[in-house]
Amino acid sequence: MELSYWTSRWRKGKTGFHLDRIHPLLVNYRPRLGLQAGEAVLVPLCGKSLDLTWLADQGFEVHGVEISEIAIRQFFAEQGLDFEREQRGPFTVYRAGRIHIWQGDFFKLTKNRFPALAGVYDRAALVAMPPEKRKAYAGQVKRLCAGDTRLLILTFDYPQHEMPGPPFSVPFEQVKELYRPGFDAELLVEKDRLPKVRQFHRRGLQSRFVEQAVLLTPVKSGK
Ligand code: SAH
Repeated sequence: MELSYWTSRWRKGKTGFHLDRIHPLLVNYRPRLGLQAGEAVLVPLCGKSLDLTWLADQGFEVHGVEISEIAIRQFFAEQGLDFEREQRGPFTVYRAGRIHIWQGDFFKLTKNRFPALAGVYDRAALVAMPPEKRKAYAGQVKRLCAGDTRLLILTFDYPQHEMPGPPFSVPFEQVKELYRPGFDAELLVEKDRLPKVRQFHRRGLQSRFVEQAVLLTPVKSGK
């Protein structure tokens, strides 16, 4: 998936991944991130997710990263928020209150650019990465983390041979592997979403489509 694949999808309005509600698993499991008001949360590959607003309403400084300017402009327009813009290195940062959206390539982001992260929320970001980019993506997330950053990752587990991604199948065991060493992984919940993804049935999906919520907590040194 080149960047042009995504920017073209936004241009054509092919954004079936966007949810018009807050993700229920974020609401359920946000307490497990153990965040305090005012702390910073990273939302990689954020699109125009309503989860950004919800996290900001909980009192967190939310840092989304998104390549598509169209997505970002739609986000602020649809939320009825006025934004300010400033250039920071290769990124244009759009900001409204506690919401900051970094427009640019996630892989170019460096840790020194924003405050220490208390949490990372990944929905449809890891699973947007093709297999050959997955390790680099997890490596980049890990580089951006502070020593005590916790991650909530929503991922999918389905037979990859039935349908091409994105979204790709990245089952819990693989998430665990990608973030090892450094993080302990806990499978919080699994939800059968097969009846909800009719659009994927047309692409060949038949037998199984499970959404999993995974919590990653840093392994403390000396453990
Ligand atoms: N998390 C969002 C969007 C998921 S789709 C949601 O839940 O709705 C993946 C998003 O990542 C797309 O909006 C795409 O434009 C963006 N994207 C893909 N590769 C990127 C990259 N390297 N840097 C920044 N954004 C990227």
